[in-house]
Amino acid sequence: MGAAILDGRLVASAVKDEVARSVADLGFQPGLATVLVGEDPASHSYVRGKRRDAAEVGIRSSHHELPGDVHADELDRLLDGLNDDDDIDGILVQLPLPGDLDDEATVERIDPAKDVDGLHPFNLGRMVLGQAGSRPSTPSGIMRILDHYGIPIAGARVVVVGRSFLVGRPLALMLSEKGVDATVTIAHSRTRDLSEVTREADILVAATGSPGLITAGHVKPGATVIDVGVTRTEDGLVGDVDFAAVIEVAGAITPVPGGVGPMTRAMLLVNTVEAARARRSEVGDDH
Ligand code: NAP
Repeated sequence: MGAAILDGRLVASAVKDEVARSVADLGFQPGLATVLVGEDPASHSYVRGKRRDAAEVGIRSSHHELPGDVHADELDRLLDGLNDDDDIDGILVQLPLPGDLDDEATVERIDPAKDVDGLHPFNLGRMVLGQAGSRPSTPSGIMRILDHYGIPIAGARVVVVGRSFLVGRPLALMLSEKGVDATVTIAHSRTRDLSEVTREADILVAATGSPGLITAGHVKPGATVIDVGVTRTEDGLVGDVDFAAVIEVAGAITPVPGGVGPMTRAMLLVNTVEAARARRSEVGDDH
C-alpha cells in the first residue's frame, strides 16, 4: 500500500500556464516589486524563484534589496514609493524580516490593492467577511491542490496543525467558508493529545516547522496529508511529516519538496494578475 502523491510541481505548472494566458489577454504587462531585507540565503533563494516564475509568465518584476540593519523608516519610504508607482501592481516583501523589523507593521504599510501576499489586515478582514480580495498564497495553493486532485472537502473533518497568520489561521477560514464547508479544528503547540486530535482528520494539514512531528500514529488510514513545513537540514529540505512512514497509512500526501512550496509561488502570480486587473480597471488606466 502507498498513498497517492499530490504533485505540487505539476499543479503549479498548470496554474502558471493559466496565468500566462491571462497575462497575454490583459494587453499590458503587470508589474511585481519584490523587496528583500538582509542576507538570509533561504529568503534570497525564495525571491529569486519568485522573480523567475514571474518572468516565465510575462510579469515584469523589479527587485529592491536593503541591508539587514536598515531602519524601519527607510523600508517604509521604499514601500511608499512603490505604493505610488503606477507601473507596480503588486508588492511582495519577503518574510520573515530580520532583526527588529516588524513583519505585521511592514505588511500594513503596503497599499491593500497591491498586497499580493494577501496578508494586509484589510485583505484578511475581507476574507473573514467572505468578500473578494487577495488571499494568502500558501493557503490558496493548498485549496488549489485539493481541488485539482478532487479531494472532497465539503463535510470533511480537517485538522490544521499550526495557527500562524501566514498559513494556519487563514487556511482554517478558507476551508470553513460557506460553500467550501469543511469542519475545521486548529491545533497548536498547546494542544493536548495531538495524535488523538489529528487521527480524527479526513484531511490533515501540518504547518508547524517542526520536522517529523506527524508520524504514522497521527494519521487516520486513508486520510489526505498536506505537509506545509519546510526546514533546511544538511540532507536538504524536510517537512513536518515523517513521509516514509505516513505514506504507508495515508490515502494521499504532498511531498517536501515539490508539494505546497511550488503552489505558494504559483498563487502569488495569480494574485499579481488579479491585482493588476482590478487596480487598472479601477484607475481607468489604458496601458
Ligand atoms: P510559525 O509562525 O512559526 O507557526 C508555527 C505554528 O506551529 C504555531 O502555531 C505553533 O504553535 C505550531 N507548532 C509548532 N510546533 C508545534 C508542535 N510541536 N506541535 C503542535 N504545534 C506546533 O510558522 P509558519 O509561518 O506558519 O510556517 C510553518 C511552517 O511552514 C514552517 O516550516 C515554514 O517554513 C513553512 N512554510 C512553508 C510554506 C510553503 O510554501 N511551503 C509557506 C509558508 C510557511 P503556537 O502558536 O502554539 O506556538
